[in-house]
Amino acid sequence: MSSLGKDLRKLLSDRQVLDEKEDLMAYANDATFYLARRSPDAVAIPLSADDVSAIIKYAFRNKIPVVPRGAGSGLAGGCTPIHGGIVMDMKQMDSIIEINRKNMTAEVEGGVVLDRFNRELRKQKLFYPPDPQSMKVCTIGGNVATRAGGPRGVKYGTTERYVTGLEVVLPDGSVITPGGKVVKQSCGYDLTHLFTGSEGTLGVITKANLRLLPLPESSTTIIASCVSADQAAEIVSEIIAEGVVPAMLEFLIKLAVMGMNNHIQNPIPLSGEAYLLMEVDGGIAQVESEMRKIKSICTGLGAADIIVVTDKADSRSYWEARSKLYPIMMTLFKRVITEDVTVPRNSIPELVRRVQAIGASLQIPIGLAGHAGDGNMHPTIMHTEISEAFAEKAEKAISEIIKAGLELSGTISGEHGIGIHKNRFIEMEHGPVQIGLMKAIKGVIDPAGIMNPGKIWHEGGTDK
Ligand SMILES: Cc1cc2nc3c(=O)[nH]c(=O)nc-3n(C[C@H](O)[C@H](O)[C@H](O)COP(=O)(O)OP(=O)(O)OC[C@H]3O[C@@H](n4cnc5c(N)ncnc54)[C@H](O)[C@@H]3O)c2cc1C
Repeated sequence: MSSLGKDLRKLLSDRQVLDEKEDLMAYANDATFYLARRSPDAVAIPLSADDVSAIIKYAFRNKIPVVPRGAGSGLAGGCTPIHGGIVMDMKQMDSIIEINRKNMTAEVEGGVVLDRFNRELRKQKLFYPPDPQSMKVCTIGGNVATRAGGPRGVKYGTTERYVTGLEVVLPDGSVITPGGKVVKQSCGYDLTHLFTGSEGTLGVITKANLRLLPLPESSTTIIASCVSADQAAEIVSEIIAEGVVPAMLEFLIKLAVMGMNNHIQNPIPLSGEAYLLMEVDGGIAQVESEMRKIKSICTGLGAADIIVVTDKADSRSYWEARSKLYPIMMTLFKRVITEDVTVPRNSIPELVRRVQAIGASLQIPIGLAGHAGDGNMHPTIMHTEISEAFAEKAEKAISEIIKAGLELSGTISGEHGIGIHKNRFIEMEHGPVQIGLMKAIKGVIDPAGIMNPGKIWHEGGTDK
């Protein structure tokens, strides 16, 4: 037993502490297997905010890094303990404390798995829209910490729109509760949304108050098969410009659909080079009218084929295969690196053209998929070989994709966060004054630099 393990066992029960090498290895990375890996020195499994506070007070006194971890499904290396220390595994803090139908809000602990939360809500005909495609495993705490989004972002927005309050344990062990159950508040600085998206670098989110919506009455899935990626991008732009707001509007290249088809009973016909997988939802009349408008836009712009999916099981299977796209691509290639640039929606066609040009000039395959309806694309670099030469090209492609996104007035991350994957690029997006302000905030809240060091910023703490 390590001395850190011994100390933690004085604060928590034996079963809440892991320090055996084999157990620690399971916490060495998130879903980005290509980034740095390192086992933590110990894992603490809190059951309450008091447990979290006790661990953090100990870590603060001893200057030990603390890395909050939900399900480890992140795509930016956010919960990888690159400086060792304690990984705080939040998954046992999984109570759905309240579903308040009359206030249309819920209160949940940080370790609640998103899919379980939505299953509970559906029993009351309620709905929490943010839908990261890892929903079967990812936690609300991880979603809040990364401002997670998903296909529904186009109509419903992403996590930050639904967070009305938090309980956060700060790096000195004190507990704060910014915001609350009210759906509006104008009382001082908005700390709730400072911690939303803070990637575990400012504190540990132990509870969240979330806004809910009524479950839409009906929905229909539409698939447009397009002759080119360019055409698909033009159709996305036109749908948005026409004021149609689909619930989901996903862009997929043919290769992605081919991969998905291996997991679908009734495969999507492969009649085009790029595809739009869409859903419209709402009242029955609204769904019918939006579906017609989308069909007419797709026909007008020359789509190769338009399918309105009438079978609910088929529709479910298409969306389920879409949610598995990242692991599916990992079975087809040696390594898969997913980018997360987001541009104003009218710039989607230009982004698609630039990404294709980057792939062509470097001669590497770059897949295109993403939540095109809200401008969030995931250009995906697919390694056909593991070699230094390929890795160099991949690195160049990442830089060029990021540069293209910024030139088009976009952002380097729409939903995955910065973590360690993009901390070398953050200064390209924010000027020195904003960077200075953010670092000053980090320095005030976490002066010892123990919270998730090396994430967002290269080094821990105040990152001199
Ligand atoms: C197949 C697949 C599909 C995905 N699809 C999407 C998608 O559509 N949209 C999207 O946004 N993301 C997507 N992701 C990325 C990922 O699932 C999200 O970022 C998710 O929000 C991470 O949740 P998690 O619980 O796994 O967090 P982790 O990966 O465990 O942690 C992520 C970050 O949050 C911090 N953190 C976690 N819990 C807490 C807490 N309680 N308090 C403070 N900080 C905390 C960690 O320190 C880390 O910085 C996908 C990932 C996979 C593997």
